[in-house]
Amino acid sequence: MTSPYPHLLQPLDLGYTTLRNRVLMGSMHTGLEDKAKDFDKLAAYFEERSKGGVGLMVTGGFAPNWQGWLSPFGSKLSSRREVPRHLQVTEAVHRHGGKIALQLLHAGRYSYHPLSVSASAHKSPINPFKPSALSGWGVRRTISAYARAAELARKAGYDGVEIMGSEGYLINQFTCQRVNRRDDEWGGSIENRCRFPVEIIKAVRQAAGKDFIIIYRLSMADLVEGGNTWDEVVYQAKAVEDAGVTLLNTGIGWHEARVPTIVTSVPRAAFVFPTRKIRGEVKIPVIATNRINTPEVAEELLGNGTCDMVSMARPLLADPAFVNKAAAGKAQEINTCIACNQACLDHVFSLKRASCLVNPLACYETELVMAPTAKAKKLAVVGAGPAGLAFATYAAERGHAVTLIDQASEIGGQFNLAKQVPGKEEFHETLRYFAVKLRTAGVTLRLNTAASAESLKAEGFDEVVLATGISPRKPGIPGIDHPKAVSYVDVLKGRVKVGGKVAVIGAGGIGFDVSEFLVHEGNSPTLHPEHWYKEWGVDASLSATGALVEKQLSAPAREVYLLQRKDEALGKQLGKTSGWVHRAALKDKQVRMIGGVEYERIDDAGLHIKVKEQPRTLEVDHIVICAGQEPLRALQAPLQAAGITTHLIGGAHTAGELDAKRAIRQAAELASTI
Ligand code: FAD
Ligand code: NAP
Ligand code: SF4
Repeated sequence: MTSPYPHLLQPLDLGYTTLRNRVLMGSMHTGLEDKAKDFDKLAAYFEERSKGGVGLMVTGGFAPNWQGWLSPFGSKLSSRREVPRHLQVTEAVHRHGGKIALQLLHAGRYSYHPLSVSASAHKSPINPFKPSALSGWGVRRTISAYARAAELARKAGYDGVEIMGSEGYLINQFTCQRVNRRDDEWGGSIENRCRFPVEIIKAVRQAAGKDFIIIYRLSMADLVEGGNTWDEVVYQAKAVEDAGVTLLNTGIGWHEARVPTIVTSVPRAAFVFPTRKIRGEVKIPVIATNRINTPEVAEELLGNGTCDMVSMARPLLADPAFVNKAAAGKAQEINTCIACNQACLDHVFSLKRASCLVNPLACYETELVMAPTAKAKKLAVVGAGPAGLAFATYAAERGHAVTLIDQASEIGGQFNLAKQVPGKEEFHETLRYFAVKLRTAGVTLRLNTAASAESLKAEGFDEVVLATGISPRKPGIPGIDHPKAVSYVDVLKGRVKVGGKVAVIGAGGIGFDVSEFLVHEGNSPTLHPEHWYKEWGVDASLSATGALVEKQLSAPAREVYLLQRKDEALGKQLGKTSGWVHRAALKDKQVRMIGGVEYERIDDAGLHIKVKEQPRTLEVDHIVICAGQEPLRALQAPLQAAGITTHLIGGAHTAGELDAKRAIRQAAELASTI
């Protein structure tokens, strides 16, 4: 059979070693790297991905010395004592034919501690600690620390290291004038600024030997003021190649950049343009990255000459068997990363262990296990939203006989609303995945069927799982039944034709999403990269310094007020790594965000409110109610009265602060024990 992804699955010969395919699992901190006691879990996490066919993996970042720690007592490799714990990781990966490199990451001025260092004493806008400038001696010592770490990595069985030279970390702080204000041999001209990575690479090569993979992650587009020009990027690429790098990986944007680079509203493969261009400048293989989440996209990039390898990190968190499924012609079975960041990066930035919204087993491989059941049960699941879908498929895979019932004509519950929001197109993928998974797991699906306690009892189910979700909250505002007041459900389903001036009551995730929906009027920049670059000020021609230009904003489709009662900045409860993107996008669309609102009444004139005791009338055509949700669990009491064991999961269990991450995890936890 000819492979559906010939380029993706083609081995890559590096001379002294061969990678089995073109997939690199990009570095991603999971939180398991930080403590020695978690290395068995880290090993199981990487083993699963090696088993799943990944060619080369890169660990989360390990600092070469304590000064480079991301946070105090974080991951580091600088002493012989730290080597043995890594051996279980590398052995687990090698057992299944994969290869693994350790990432060397010195955080520089992103280190979250008071003794941080950088090229110059310039504080980052995203860290309260001001770094001190490394002395010339300090620079030499840091280079030696990299070499020592690489030597230890080799002893620990790694096939190579990745030297993190992008994302605004220490090396990037040296290569860009944004931070590097030195006037010694390490600052000034591009040649001097690149001396630091060049000397590190030479030292690492010497310490670790010729037959050791060195990946260099180069910042191809800094996306900040004071970033490098394209000519400087090319200079650096050639310099690191000459110094002995094996593979050139792509880095996009400093952490302090105000351009989104990986959230779900970023178009797929939006940032491969510099990789394509750099490939013509160097001889070593180059790796494309950022928002590559399907084998089709990866194959296209490899086939059209953009890159020699593709880097995917979150997609392999979402599905460890991504590569094997692609190779077996079963791409439709891949559990696709929806780039939500909710369980991975948002966790890491809150110092919590990473996992995955669509795959709660990620990073819990030894704890959340779907072992075959010893006692198959006849189970009914009511509600085919994310909770019901996840429970039904996991339980069926364990060997239970599962019937999934939904009153709607399609599976997906509220994800069918979410997928309508511009920038949330990836939610379609989760529904596609579950549609296939229901079939392969052998779940009996009944749509267009409202379950009742009587019908469930009559069928003799051993246990019933209620995943019936929520009902939207109807706040007791005088005039709430006025025709101008409409529910977000009706708006997102296109049941109401919304006027040109709108007030949105409630600024939770749904209020923000509905506002996006209203200002874009079905025109999603995510599906039109050229439009998206303009809206975020990205220079895809690479003529501007740091690839950053003025935003060119298009007018909003409507005038929108987004309101909440809390007297605080709107969107504070949104995701740590994505909330700022939502806020910036709505601000650019001139959405007026007002907190500390008291709702007085709704009438023909519009919405009457008070802000700081001052009455105001918003003369709007419609008021969209996004005031949270209440659990829908009417079936629980009659089922329990009938003596049927009943479980609640997802929105039916808790509607406050419910999100799909919690719903799917709760479903998985129940499915693993039922
Ligand atoms: P639901 O998705 O509500 O599904 C419940 C299902 O039960 C429905 O299909 C319903 O038809 C069925 N049902 C109810 N009663 C019966 C009955 N008696 N018989 C048969 N069937 C019945 N979450 C995130 O984590 N991230 C996001 O970015 C995100 N964005 C969102 C955007 C929007 C616009 C919306 C509306 C929601 C968003 N959410 C998001 C929330 C997420 O969709 C919910 O957390 C999730 O859908 C809850 O899953 P659930 O299975 O518990 O319930
Ligand atoms: P939510 O996050 O609980 O927000 C509800 C909003 O309604 C709040 O802004 C609240 O603010 C307001 N509100 C609550 N009670 C009210 C009342 N009685 N009268 C007027 N206003 C009231 O819920 P949601 O926006 O409905 O979202 C539901 C779930 O889906 C959430 O858990 C959310 O995380 C998830 N979701 C996530 C995303 C995402 O991008 N991660 C996107 C969409 C949805 P005040 O009380 O201050 O007025
Ligand atoms: Fe992807 Fe979201 Fe899972 Fe992170 S949590 S890996 S972004 S699906």
